[in-house]
Amino acid sequence: MTWHPTRTAALQRLEQFLPRSGRAYAERRNHDSGPGARPEVSGLSPYIRYRMIAESDVLAAVTSRHSQAAAEKFIQEVCWRTYWKGWLEQRPDVWRHYCRDVQTIERPPGYAAAVEGRTGIDCFDAWAQELVETGYLHNHARMWFASIWVFTLKLPWQLGADWFLRHLLDGDPASNTLSWRWVAGLQTVGKTYLARADNIERYTQGRFQPQGLASVAVPLPADPPVAMRPLPLQAPLPTGPVALLVTEEDLSPELTADRIAVLDQPVERGAAPLVTRFIAGALDDAATRLGATTGRPVERVAIADIAAWANGLPIVSAYAPVGPAQSAVFGPQIHWQRRAWDSAAWPHAKRGFFQFREQIASLLRDAGIGPRQPTLFETR
Ligand SMILES: Cc1cc2nc3c(=O)[nH]c(=O)nc-3n(C[C@H](O)[C@H](O)[C@H](O)COP(=O)(O)OP(=O)(O)OC[C@H]3O[C@@H](n4cnc5c(N)ncnc54)[C@H](O)[C@@H]3O)c2cc1C
Repeated sequence: MTWHPTRTAALQRLEQFLPRSGRAYAERRNHDSGPGARPEVSGLSPYIRYRMIAESDVLAAVTSRHSQAAAEKFIQEVCWRTYWKGWLEQRPDVWRHYCRDVQTIERPPGYAAAVEGRTGIDCFDAWAQELVETGYLHNHARMWFASIWVFTLKLPWQLGADWFLRHLLDGDPASNTLSWRWVAGLQTVGKTYLARADNIERYTQGRFQPQGLASVAVPLPADPPVAMRPLPLQAPLPTGPVALLVTEEDLSPELTADRIAVLDQPVERGAAPLVTRFIAGALDDAATRLGATTGRPVERVAIADIAAWANGLPIVSAYAPVGPAQSAVFGPQIHWQRRAWDSAAWPHAKRGFFQFREQIASLLRDAGIGPRQPTLFETR
């Protein structure tokens, strides 16, 4: 798979995947047939990550094609993302502590061999190489990789998460950090994920027969609990002329404005060149699209020049969730707007995914997402 950083490419990928997003996805999604064509999964994550296409767009498309029962698994996977975002948003200290640890933990012996794919564990080395070359790993490979990192190689999970975050095209503070924590037994306390050789062999169609994997996965010592905070309250948008600032956190903002600017480059977070190029292309695409849809000139602005660019106009922006862009760009001068989907769903991400899952049907219904209603003509 390759990813062209445009919304047009995102929509094409969604359309091509739709026929396979129902029962076929539920049956085949755990199979990793290797780099190249991956018909089992959508490959939409780099587009969803930067909201070149929103979760609600994807869910609407899928439920217009399949019944909710047939597409249940795919809907749930998309909702895992929503859940992780909402969970971290209410516990920003988990992100802060992780960032602090990445800065302070020394790279132990074994770190270089792991990220350079020189451990001698066939699958692990192949995935390390695949990630660096393509910016993507299948979900099952991510789980196996993280598990081998933590329980076989006994490397600190934070360093593995950091390496993923910098190399994944879809690298996301919430989905990545919390998935690593989940594998390590820190997220669902006491529950770990153990990578087993027979499982890897089976779901990679025999491409790998790893040797020497850990046979137990003892949860890492639990972190001290962090305080939960209420979701940041959204203030009404200013009335009168406003300036819209577009960041990489939402490249299809549902806002209009008198002046529009897109950040001139990706927010610095030590990402690999492949990732930085993808985001830079996605920012260019957003500028071109917004120019075409609004008929207004779209400027490019550096973070340091935002206030000068707005020239006294109130600045509005789509909400940037917990992560580098929020820290670098957002302050009291920005009037942010959260998407309706996030505002409805995130408050339910207080506990485990299974409680969140109970809400999915009503979230979809309230968002007007669901099977097309038959028209009067069709019902006769
Ligand atoms: C250790 C680890 C790290 C991960 N890091 C990231 C990350 O940085 N960014 C990221 O977007 N996902 C991450 N994931 C989740 C998942 O692996 C990817 O979203 C998925 O593999 C993307 O491929 P796809 O678009 O083909 O997925 P599909 O299977 O086609 O799923 C459709 C969409 O649902 C969402 N999704 C699917 N599975 C998950 C999941 N388990 N958690 C959250 N969202 C999911 C994604 O937006 C994805 O595009 C991680 C998982 C693990 C185990």
